[in-house]
Amino acid sequence: METFIQILKHKDVDNLYIKRDDLFPFSFGGNKARKGILFFEELTRNGCDCVVTYGSSSSNHCRVIANLSASRGLPCYIITPFENSQDTFNSRLTQLLGAKYTVCRTDQVCGTIEEKLTELKNKGYKPYFIPGGGHGNIGTQAYVDCYREIVNQSASLGIKFDYIFHASGTGTTQSGLVCGKIINAGREDIVGISIARKNPKGRQVVVDSVKEYLEAHNRIVEEAVIEESVIFIDSYTGGGYGQSNAEIKKNIEVLWKSHGIPTDPTYTAKAYTGMLNYIKKHEIKNKKVLFIHTGGTPLFFDAFQ
Ligand SMILES: *Cc1c(COP(=O)(O)O)cnc(C)c1O
Repeated sequence: METFIQILKHKDVDNLYIKRDDLFPFSFGGNKARKGILFFEELTRNGCDCVVTYGSSSSNHCRVIANLSASRGLPCYIITPFENSQDTFNSRLTQLLGAKYTVCRTDQVCGTIEEKLTELKNKGYKPYFIPGGGHGNIGTQAYVDCYREIVNQSASLGIKFDYIFHASGTGTTQSGLVCGKIINAGREDIVGISIARKNPKGRQVVVDSVKEYLEAHNRIVEEAVIEESVIFIDSYTGGGYGQSNAEIKKNIEVLWKSHGIPTDPTYTAKAYTGMLNYIKKHEIKNKKVLFIHTGGTPLFFDAFQ
């Protein structure tokens, strides 16, 4: 399933385009839907009959996994830390879909996941575990596929992008795009704008995911090629996960009023704001820039609560 690329007029950026992954056609779309669908293909191949995953109550991932589970009639269990268990549109949608939350302390998450898996196996189920955020090679695959889609779309639009920007969290989206670029010998800079993690760890997680994917697919790539392909910018995290500021809020308003595009303070508007600052700082002019809108529409509504 493809998502389209549209022009996004901006007074300070010459050729700005946006790929509307937020309109990926399942459960408010976004990168978690792209990844989730691939996890469910594996679940089906493995003949599993229920799902266990992990995430906060504001998690887009949990909403999508709950929805995919419900659509297939499979029970879905979600482990959530106390600290992140507020009432949000995502948590309400997830509950509406019949997913069962188990709330525990952050340091008990791993143990609680193990207990849940054991409990289900003892009851005769065959549970399928999905890592938080859809991290891992399957999640990476989703954005290798998306990169291929961008290559095809740019060919038919007659555009060669110089930059691809997007929000980077667990790093899976970025590692997929970077693997896609390496496999297809792409030339653009892929710039992940960190929404929380700091370097060097943030960048290292992406590098490790890239290596893990390439190894699993028997691709031998020079270390230097991988290192120079991972651009992970941690200058615009604005105080950490979920923390917003006036500039981000302003951009949410502008994107909504001028373009009818919903964005959120945790991911997409934070990354979009970071991108505009990065373009200014590096004096990027007369370049073709693509921003990937990675979804998270329920968080747009939370921002106006
Ligand atoms: C999870 C998420 C991201 C970050 O994606 P990663 O693959 O974890 O880096 C970006 N945008 C939105 C809307 C998300 O839900």
